[in-house]
Amino acid sequence: MIASTQVEIIKKEYALLAAMQCDICGNKEATIVASIEGAALNVCSGCGKFGKFLRTISAAQKAPKPAIKAPTIPEKEVMDMLIEDYAACIRQAREKLGLKQEDFAKKINEKVSLIHHIETGRHEPSIELARKLERFLRIKLVVEHEEVHDKAKKEAKGESFTLGDFIKIKKG
Ligand SMILES: [Zn+2]
Repeated sequence: MIASTQVEIIKKEYALLAAMQCDICGNKEATIVASIEGAALNVCSGCGKFGKFLRTISAAQKAPKPAIKAPTIPEKEVMDMLIEDYAACIRQAREKLGLKQEDFAKKINEKVSLIHHIETGRHEPSIELARKLERFLRIKLVVEHEEVHDKAKKEAKGESFTLGDFIKIKKG
């Protein structure tokens, strides 16, 4: 299982190494810098609509030193992960409450088939749904998982590549 946040991190790092590709879609050439969820990202004009426009990349080329630093690779990335035995936990907690799958489904406004699939481990609930189940059943299903990017950090430091370097390379 690859969490979507993990994919985002890989995408970001890849974009950083593979020159000026859009940090969001990774397909188009990045033309603007936009602030997305607090981070300055190089994005294509299409993806730029998702964030706050900061400046165009061509404007940065003219400036000797870009005012905005390249996004730093975080030391630790905390992400929400579903516990491994979520299926058994949900079933046990539901049975403790004396609820049938049908009653439980009605109470949380979900389909019985969904509950059945989750409890048999055939369907992994989304984090949002897991949180809803947590609240109702008063159990812990989502745990924070810390991903430490030691290697990536060292490599980034050793290369000492900045956003400005990429711009220079691209220009020359
Ligand atoms: Zn894009």
